[in-house]
Amino acid sequence: REPRIRKPDWIRVKAPGGTAFAETKSLMRSLNLATVCEEAACPNIGECWSKKHATVMILGDTCTRACAFCNVKTGMPRAVDLKEPQHVADAAAAMGLQHIVVTSVDRDDLKDGGASQFVKVIDALRRTTPNTTIEILTPDFRNKADAAVEAIVAARPDVYNHNLETVPRLYSTIRPGARYYASLRLLETVKRLDPSIFTKSGVMVGLGEERLEVHQVMDDMRSAGIDFLTVGQYLQPTPKHAKVMDFVTPQAFDAYASIARAKGFLLVASSPLTRSSYHADSDFAKLRVA
Ligand code: SF4
Ligand code: SF4
Repeated sequence: REPRIRKPDWIRVKAPGGTAFAETKSLMRSLNLATVCEEAACPNIGECWSKKHATVMILGDTCTRACAFCNVKTGMPRAVDLKEPQHVADAAAAMGLQHIVVTSVDRDDLKDGGASQFVKVIDALRRTTPNTTIEILTPDFRNKADAAVEAIVAARPDVYNHNLETVPRLYSTIRPGARYYASLRLLETVKRLDPSIFTKSGVMVGLGEERLEVHQVMDDMRSAGIDFLTVGQYLQPTPKHAKVMDFVTPQAFDAYASIARAKGFLLVASSPLTRSSYHADSDFAKLRVA
């Protein structure tokens, strides 16, 4: 298939700027925190940061992997910042977050893949902002997954998110460092160890997948007990990254949402600008009220 170059009109975003945006940025810098909003060049940064919503990326800003869709830099990461867990909690307190999403780069270089830092962040948040619900978005921890998941589940985040990112056929080009079934298994393990933790996953579309392949991923997710689903349009961060093969129409996103609801997901977000952490706070709040 030929790639699609021009962005359609339905991909419109708020330009970054304004006082709250600047305050969010200076808070992150003063606490020495990286954000996935910046590192992944998220198109929603103008909207989210002007509402003082940011998704912190722990364990530094440099990843040991190089996925074809991702803007995060690859290389030898820095030493783990021991102050980072409390800094994340201080940021949540300063922004007044009711719900925080914490993610990380992949740290295949660390003995535990970085799991203990997630645990420390959860503990610091529980101490500092006990009313903030915690969603973590973790890497697959490769061959350390069992021990990593066990440790993190024991710290009891409210939502455990791990993205499948794309359909299995495209893994070798789009997510070459990962294995589709290992990622599914990781989420299944979370649910088995503690069914009270909500599990969440997401895919990007527009990478050349077929509709029925996305439906199959949904079925696989439901078989693994995954509760929440996000589906969003892949956007090419730089010309060096994987090309956009399709701009999926808003109607097709709505169709994915209806199918996902029919398959039993508790929460579904499916739109061109949906990202793992986009509106995660309000969506989760709705579920708690319902
Ligand atoms: Fe950050 Fe998530 Fe908003 Fe993107 S959608 S700007 S990653 S909080
Ligand atoms: Fe980006 Fe995550 Fe892949 Fe690293 S593992 S390159 S942070 S998507």
